[in-house]
Amino acid sequence: MSIVVKQSESLLSESKKYLAGGVASTLRASMKPTPLFAEAGSGPRVRDVDGNEYIDYLLAYGPLILGHAHPSLAEGLNDALKRGVTFGLQHTGEIELAKLLTEILPCADRVALSGSGTEAVMLALRLSRAYTGRTKVIRFHGHFHGWSDAIFTSFPSADMKQSETASAGAVPPGTGGQSENSLQDIILLPWNDIDALEETLRREKDSIAAVITEPIMCNNGCIHPMPGYLERMRELTEEFGIVMIMDEVITGFRLGLGGAHGKLGLKPDLVTIGKAMGGGIAISGVAGKADIMAMIEKGTVGHLGTLNGNVAATSAALATLRELAKDGGSVYGKMERTADLLVQGINSLFEKHRVPGLVNQAGPVFHVMFTSEEKVENFDAFNKRDAAKYSRFAELMLAEGVLIRPSGLWYVSAVHGEDEVRATLTSVDRVLANL
Ligand code: PMP
Repeated sequence: MSIVVKQSESLLSESKKYLAGGVASTLRASMKPTPLFAEAGSGPRVRDVDGNEYIDYLLAYGPLILGHAHPSLAEGLNDALKRGVTFGLQHTGEIELAKLLTEILPCADRVALSGSGTEAVMLALRLSRAYTGRTKVIRFHGHFHGWSDAIFTSFPSADMKQSETASAGAVPPGTGGQSENSLQDIILLPWNDIDALEETLRREKDSIAAVITEPIMCNNGCIHPMPGYLERMRELTEEFGIVMIMDEVITGFRLGLGGAHGKLGLKPDLVTIGKAMGGGIAISGVAGKADIMAMIEKGTVGHLGTLNGNVAATSAALATLRELAKDGGSVYGKMERTADLLVQGINSLFEKHRVPGLVNQAGPVFHVMFTSEEKVENFDAFNKRDAAKYSRFAELMLAEGVLIRPSGLWYVSAVHGEDEVRATLTSVDRVLANL
C-alpha cells in the first residue's frame, strides 16, 4: 500500500523558500515519506492536504489530550476572541486558572504562567538557583527538558554534552551555536541509579541548586522509575536543601489530573507543566512551594513574557482542565483502557509475527520498540532498539491511515475509542506481516 502525498511534498518545497528548513520545529522534518501538511482535524482523526485521513496518535506531540477541535475548547477560545485575546493587563482568567492549578496539583502553593515547556524549565532553574544561592544542576541521560541553552544537551535524544564528544571531533546534533559555557553547571547522570545520585549529591551538595527529572522517562522509552528511586531522590534533596524539579510537561494532566507526582504521592518542590494543559494552545507554567515561588514576588527572579497568561491561553487551559475534571476525572480511566487495548494488541501481534519488540506504557502514553531486549529499564537498553526499523514501521502505518511519531511514542486522547483501536490493530497486523 502506498500513499499519495504530492500536495505535502510540493508545499514543503514552497515552504523551504520562506520558512527556514521548511518546518517550524526541527523534529518535524524527520517524518517519512515527507513532513505532512495538515488540512483539518476532528476528534481522534486528522486529514492532510492530499485528502488522506489518519487516526492520530501523534496528537501534536502530546497537547491534544481532548483530540482535535473539541467543542469545549472551541467555546473557551470563542469567548476569548470576543473579549480580546490579550491585554497586557491583569484579568480574572489568570486567577481562576492559577487557583484551579493549586487545587489539582498537590505540590502547588503558587503558580507562574509562561508559553512553552522550555520557558517553564528555564524559570524553574532560575528559581532554584536564586533560592539556594548555588549553581549546579543535576539532570539525567535520556531526559528532555526543552531547548534552552541552560539545559539542552543534544538532539533528539538529549544524552551528551559538547565537551563529551569534542574529543571525537563531533558536535551533538542540533547543538551548533550553543555555548559550551552555558552547560558547565550541568551534571549529567544515569537515571534510575540511586547510588550514582547519592554519591554525587553527597560529594557536591553545597554547590547543587536542583535535581531535575522527568517522573517517567517518557521522551526515551517511557521508562518508569525503579521502586523507591524518586522517593529516595526526594529524601536526599530535602536533606541537602536541594530543589527537586519534576518536569511534568508530558505527564502533567496526562497520567491523572494531579500529574505523575499526584499519582506517586510525592511532593517535588517545583513542577513544570505545559503540553496537555492548554489542549493545543501555547501555555505552560511552573508550580510549587510558596517560599521558592516567592523569589518572583520579591523581584529576585524576573518572570517575563509579553503573552504570559493571555486570555486565549488561560481560556484554553481552563476549558481543557475542566473537561478533564468532569465526572471525577473518569476520562483518565477511559484513556488508560484504550491504551491498554492497543498495547495488549500490539504485544500479541509482535508474538504472532515473531517480531522482537516490546511496549513500555505509562497510562495513555506508550513507547513501541523493536528490540531483542527482554526489558527496557534504562537509557542504554533503550538505545539498543532498532530505530530505523521503527521509522519504516511508522511510514507503513501512515500508508494504512495511522499517524504515529517516527520515534516510537504514542499518545491516546480522551476521544480515541474502540473503533480506532480495532482499525489500528488491523493495520499493525498488516504492517508487521510486510515489514
Ligand atoms: N520538558 C519535557 C519533558 C518535554 O517533553 C518537552 C517537549 N517535548 C519540554 C520540556 C519542552 O517543551 P516545549 O516544546 O513546549 O518547549
